[in-house]
Amino acid sequence: MAQRVLLTGANGFIGSHILAKLLDRGFSVCCAVRTQEKGDKIFKDFAAQRDQLAITIVPDIVASEAYRDAVQGTPGTPPFDTVFHTASPFTYQNVGSNIEFLEPAIKGTLNLLRAVKDHAPSVKRVIWTGSCASVIDYDNLASHPPRTYTEADWNPVTWEEAVHGDSSKAYRASKLFAEREAWNFMKQEEPHYDLVTLCPPATIGPLRHSISSISDLNESNARLWKLCFDSTKEAPMPYIPVHTYVDVRDLADAQVKAMIVPEAGNQRFVVCARQFGFQDICDILRARFPELSERTPFGKPGTSSLPPGAYTIDNSKVKQLLEVEFRSLDETVVDVARCLLDIEQHEKQAQN
Ligand code: NDP
Repeated sequence: MAQRVLLTGANGFIGSHILAKLLDRGFSVCCAVRTQEKGDKIFKDFAAQRDQLAITIVPDIVASEAYRDAVQGTPGTPPFDTVFHTASPFTYQNVGSNIEFLEPAIKGTLNLLRAVKDHAPSVKRVIWTGSCASVIDYDNLASHPPRTYTEADWNPVTWEEAVHGDSSKAYRASKLFAEREAWNFMKQEEPHYDLVTLCPPATIGPLRHSISSISDLNESNARLWKLCFDSTKEAPMPYIPVHTYVDVRDLADAQVKAMIVPEAGNQRFVVCARQFGFQDICDILRARFPELSERTPFGKPGTSSLPPGAYTIDNSKVKQLLEVEFRSLDETVVDVARCLLDIEQHEKQAQN
């Protein structure tokens, strides 16, 4: 069983949930973040488990040999046996060009895999957070019969489209090309460790890291907030081209199981709970949170807001091999709503 873990992106939405699960299971975790300030915030958010935590600063994951020192750990401490990589750009705020998605995703991944190969002989497994963005064909979201995606599918987006398309295309392509490069690296370099890639769809859920303002929400929860909590009763039911979701806590569970289950080695998993539409979310919010009645779109309660023939995803592999169980949408929506409304309330109190 793994004893010491390196986790990149540990200060992020998904990274902090993985960190929480690892610490709760007693692992020692070294968190790779961009600045000491971000590391200090992790210490604060996980103060009760401070003795299991270390921080390493990797200021620029694109730079050559970016992870060389980080993967070697601190002298005098046991070396790492597992590395989790979640650090990758996923925000559409202040993005200057598509390369700002593509380069850190691809070079960050390759720099990490190379560093582990060259400098961390004790590592047995690298667990890489991908996305269903590397699985789904976003130009064909509905069909008859509806398409069911599996781990065998790959988004057919081209490099040209990635560089010249809109920023959402660039983000999705960043996950696709980074994952392709990771598997190519494994094939060509035959390193001493194995690789597991986990591809979640829209990931939502309560936050494990602290933020003081709704404006600091990560992209997926920010989108949920904007469309379902900060709207009007009369607004059209929101639609996005992502028809499946997972709760962040179930994704973190899959990540930790990917570390523990030997058969997960060199496997790709889609980590998806089920199909959803925004009408489903709004119905739950309106039923459970009367204070949202004027802020949440009404739509046509009880109906599907997805287009006919909307794609879905087969999650049988992750259920069978990693024994992941997915909580209900109701539980996810209620928990995320409590969390977001709490942040909003604290923010308002701080302003008064
Ligand atoms: P967050 O924005 O909360 O976290 C992203 C993490 O990556 C942060 O630690 C961030 O560090 C780091 N990061 C981003 N850009 C860079 C960069 N250029 N150099 C170094 N570090 C960087 O997002 P999530 O937690 O949601 O995303 C984590 C991973 O999960 C990503 O790989 C994302 O693609 C993937 N994912 C997310 C989904 C979702 O719906 N949330 C769905 C599918 C996949 P910093 O704070 O310094 O910016």
